[in-house]
Amino acid sequence: MNPFDLSSQQLQGAKFLSERRVGNVIGGVSGPALSGRWLPVTDPATEMVVAEAPDSDAADIDRAVASAQRAFGSDAWRGLRPADREKLLFRLSELIERHADELSALETLQSGKLQGIARAIDVQAGAEFVRYMAGWATKLEGQTLDNSIPIPGPQWVTYTRREPVGVVGAIVPWNFPLAIALWKIAPALAAGCTVVLKPSEDTPLTALRLAHLALEAGIPEGVLNVVCGRGATAGAALIAHPGVRKLSFTGSTAVGKVVGHAAVENMARFTLELGGKSPAVVMEDADPSQVAQGIAMGIFFHQGQVCTASSRLLVHRSLYRRVLDELAGIAQGMRIGSGFDAATQFGPLTSKAHFARVMDFIASAKAEGATLVAGGERVHDAGCFVQPTIFADTTAQMRVVREEVFGPVLAVAPFDDVEDAIAAANDTPYGLAASLWTQSLSHAHRIVPRLQAGVVWVNAHNVLDAGLPLGGIKQSGTGRDLGRAAVEGFTELKSVCMAV
Ligand code: NAD
Repeated sequence: MNPFDLSSQQLQGAKFLSERRVGNVIGGVSGPALSGRWLPVTDPATEMVVAEAPDSDAADIDRAVASAQRAFGSDAWRGLRPADREKLLFRLSELIERHADELSALETLQSGKLQGIARAIDVQAGAEFVRYMAGWATKLEGQTLDNSIPIPGPQWVTYTRREPVGVVGAIVPWNFPLAIALWKIAPALAAGCTVVLKPSEDTPLTALRLAHLALEAGIPEGVLNVVCGRGATAGAALIAHPGVRKLSFTGSTAVGKVVGHAAVENMARFTLELGGKSPAVVMEDADPSQVAQGIAMGIFFHQGQVCTASSRLLVHRSLYRRVLDELAGIAQGMRIGSGFDAATQFGPLTSKAHFARVMDFIASAKAEGATLVAGGERVHDAGCFVQPTIFADTTAQMRVVREEVFGPVLAVAPFDDVEDAIAAANDTPYGLAASLWTQSLSHAHRIVPRLQAGVVWVNAHNVLDAGLPLGGIKQSGTGRDLGRAAVEGFTELKSVCMAV
């Protein structure tokens, strides 16, 4: 009899949960919060508690930062060559792949995510990303410079070095708990930093499992510490800790600002990957079926709980009806159910609180006069299921257009003039992502530079690559995850000037 009432199919993957309580990993040792308090982890498909994780506070964060500081200064870590760090990260990526069943089951249990998405994004793409970053360990470099120093006498030698920033405090959200944790951990370790990671209180299980896999890979104790707990306690203690030299945060804009202020207080470096309200602009010459498929993927993938989701669709009036009809057909045909069912195309939202928030946005769009084209209702009496939802004829003032829903709710509006479409696309405090749909290269080259976003896709949406930097402008944040920019963000540039 297992304590969580899990089906045998679920348990097979999630052997990690044979213990009811899963501890923090600090200095290579797993244990409870010092206070002895625990937080429940709930399966949003059944609303059952599937595990408990530590409800940590400042005392646990102090221990974890001290452990990361010791590891940062230790021969076991600082003494490694870049090629040794590269090899350790390769081993970690192999272990992630070898534990794909277990990790993807844990993801689905804690977040409701489809097994296919957990496997493809959190596990497979996560492991590939670790390999990509492993390669950077041996490729970080400074520059030697010809200089014009006007002081006679010695010869002057000037060069720069890239050095690890030190202890990193990483805080991640609940939508891609393993993948986004890896987006922080892999470049930090490649650069030679050590990490204290605080996962979301809703989804701590895969991060904890990852900490064990890192130890198994041979990553020294204390290099990766995972401390679970609430944002207001464990998170707040981590961002305020003077021992943390870089904060890497992914989450909402409101919390991101708190993190940025705390970082500045300690002059810690910071990267903030925040919210979005990403527009998709469909030109007259676009292929309507390609648009409908691409936008359905852009807004309904993982129930729209994606920071770059294509939540605002602006369509040239000549294609408006056709695109809306095709999109509505796709939304109404989606099979809604448990993430563990292979036939499911659309799962539950990740938590009860988030479900209530999304339903409130749907109610506001109805009340403000948007035209409901598909969905708009709760599904099933239990669980956090809501239909894929499309509102047409939305206007710039509506809440569903202005605010991030972070759920499967698409706001659509027509346009006649491309200048109006560009103005509407940019009429948002956010600037994370945008897409443009057109068959014309000259449209693409002319409009891409005018879209205010950190990422722009053409004839696609939500496509990421390990090497392409991801991050926002305006209220969507600062700094970049992924790519060379991410790993360089975990380094300090030291200038050396030598009289010889
Ligand atoms: P959130 O901001 O509520 O929480 C994110 C993390 O911050 C959690 O671990 C939480 O415990 C912690 N936290 C909360 N309050 C804190 C505090 N005062 N101090 C320190 N830490 C604190 O966000 P969420 O609801 O978990 O995630 C959804 C948000 O994340 C959306 O806005 C979404 O757009 C954004 N997001 C952005 C990206 C990106 O790459 N830009 C990716 C995924 C999600």
